[in-house]
Amino acid sequence: MGVLRILLLLVMGYLAYRLVRRLLRPVQPPSSRTDDTTPLVRCTRCATLIPPQQAITFNNQLYCSEACINQK
Ligand SMILES: [Zn+2]
Repeated sequence: MGVLRILLLLVMGYLAYRLVRRLLRPVQPPSSRTDDTTPLVRCTRCATLIPPQQAITFNNQLYCSEACINQK
């Protein structure tokens, strides 16, 4: 009977150890996921969806390329 109690204590201790380890684990930085969730912007001229960092702002409008800006 004594052996079973010791085993039970060991299992419970191990589970508690795992729980504490999981709680203490640092949270993943959200920056690694923002690339996937960044909304795309639409070109004013041709309506192409492009990442905001690639968009060209001209006269407060967003364009995908200079060709779209110069198009009339
Ligand atoms: Zn365009």
